[in-house]
Amino acid sequence: MPDIIQLLPDHVANQIAAGEVVQRPASVVKELLENAIDAEATQIKLLIKDAGKVLIQVIDNGKGMSQTDARLCFERHATSKIKKAEDLFNINTKGFRGEALASIAAIAHVTLKTRQESQELGTSIRVEGSEVKSQESVSTPKGTSIAVKNLFYNIPARRNFLKSNTIETRHIVNEFQRVALVHPNISFSFYHNDNEIYNLVASNLRQRIVAILGKKTNEKLVPINESTDIVAIEGFITKPEFAKKKRGEQFFFVNNRFIKNAYLNHAVTSAFEGLLAQGYYPSYFLYLTVPTKSIDINIHPTKTEIKFDDEKTLYAILRSTIKHSLGQYNVAPALDFDRDASMDTPYEFKNKHISTPKVSVNPDFNPFNAQKTRPTNFQQKASNWESLYTGIDVENIEVESEPVNSSMFTEEKSTHKTYQIQNKYIVSNIKSGVVYINQNLAHQRILYEEFLENSTVNEAASQQLLFPLTLAFSKDDVRIIEEIKSDLESIGFIFETISEEAVVVKGIPVNISESQITTIIEQLLDDIKNDVPDTSFSQLDIMAKSFAKSLAIKTGTKLDAKEQEEIVNKLFLCKEANYSPFGKKTFVIINIQEIDKQFNN
Ligand code: ADP
Ligand code: MG
Repeated sequence: MPDIIQLLPDHVANQIAAGEVVQRPASVVKELLENAIDAEATQIKLLIKDAGKVLIQVIDNGKGMSQTDARLCFERHATSKIKKAEDLFNINTKGFRGEALASIAAIAHVTLKTRQESQELGTSIRVEGSEVKSQESVSTPKGTSIAVKNLFYNIPARRNFLKSNTIETRHIVNEFQRVALVHPNISFSFYHNDNEIYNLVASNLRQRIVAILGKKTNEKLVPINESTDIVAIEGFITKPEFAKKKRGEQFFFVNNRFIKNAYLNHAVTSAFEGLLAQGYYPSYFLYLTVPTKSIDINIHPTKTEIKFDDEKTLYAILRSTIKHSLGQYNVAPALDFDRDASMDTPYEFKNKHISTPKVSVNPDFNPFNAQKTRPTNFQQKASNWESLYTGIDVENIEVESEPVNSSMFTEEKSTHKTYQIQNKYIVSNIKSGVVYINQNLAHQRILYEEFLENSTVNEAASQQLLFPLTLAFSKDDVRIIEEIKSDLESIGFIFETISEEAVVVKGIPVNISESQITTIIEQLLDDIKNDVPDTSFSQLDIMAKSFAKSLAIKTGTKLDAKEQEEIVNKLFLCKEANYSPFGKKTFVIINIQEIDKQFNN
């Protein structure tokens, strides 16, 4: 048999690679803008014609390329940005793969003009479908201009697949905004068919956001600023009263790259908890800087996902930072770390008569009751547990790479030295004294949040039952189950059939065992029937509460050290660790002073 394997010619390989890198005109825009930034340009101009289908041109005043480089840059894996494998773990440029220009040149007509400052003349190159058509010396301004014409001219299927001009332009505007929002110090202009879309002068971040999103934005912004060893967070959120019905303006940037991350988005939204009406979303512009080693950026060029080493801690820091800022700007009571003096009366105000806004805390506050009558007043219950810990070195909390809360404990991590008393309370040493955790109520809180999280953030995990379970109910009960079927499914139930007086279950949530099913569903039906109907509260919430109550470790159950530790750790990772879902305290702290007092009497 003859050998049949051959290496693909370069232009074919490039065309294949292009299929991945260039999905639409907006992908070209992103790559070209990023190259201009990597070239240290201070002025960047983007010109497009017919949504980029006819022309995409980026002109920059960056460092330009030499004659040889101008030719080389169209080769695959040609890059000036990394040299060796180790560089991959310390990337400070936008590009590094060296495949964008090669890919683009494989599927379009490209003209590159470039000149380095030190050179009299620049160079101009024309490439069509990976083939260099001409190269000549030209007089051209310092910097680089790349014009990409007739994108996908040699891949008709791709070209036909492009959406309407409106949609493709929308994609381009999105990419442009994402880049412009990260580099306020660079001037950008953007023209579509000779109409000016944006003309952004170099400015600070706030001005850039306002320039992109409109003057009205200015009054809406609340600054965010936090710096820890794990992450530095900067940027703005919008005040809750400006929340939107759509999730439009939500921007996360990590090390100056735009990313999407549902988990971090959840951290932000949950910091707004109780401040937004249902169905409203806050806008945000958040810039996270993390050590390059702690993220995996070596991802697909068109993907906006990113992997973090320690997402949980990031979540906690992000959430508390935002809560803190909302508090500082008096849009919500300060709930979390009061970590700087900016809440104090500034010197020049000391002698003025100012009625300081008061944060009233009602120690008897029962969030469960309050939720029913005044659902907007959540924030009162949220007096976060961190604030209960006195004398903590807050700086240290933030640099812990362990889950934030474990640093609350004086003992070394993972050996919190907990013990159980009366098979009811878990007791542990903390910096300010002793904490008593009610095992049942704490576990309710943990399970409650797990159920909610599973139904909203995660894909619910189900376990398939070996034999489907037939449960008999009254007609009335079956009707209720039918009503809440989708909520039950969202947390992991799978129903085979629901008939008039029976329900056949073939899958159940992973955190429930088969033997518990009947009891918890009966309890749930009971709870739903007895709960005063309240439109502001979803069935899901009732369901999560009911299941949490049914499944939580009961008082009187002996727990081994590991189980105790798990409760403690998970509790303090909860959003509202200090109350059970029904508004009861999950733990109490006896301060060392209080103990001292007992001895002095
Ligand atoms: P990457 O950006 O991943 O290195 P590209 O294919 O986008 O790969 O670009 C290849 C190389 O061409 C870059 O590494 C850079 O040296 C050069 N280059 C591209 N665009 C510009 C530009 N606007 N100004 C100066 N050099 C550029
Ligand atoms: Mg590039």
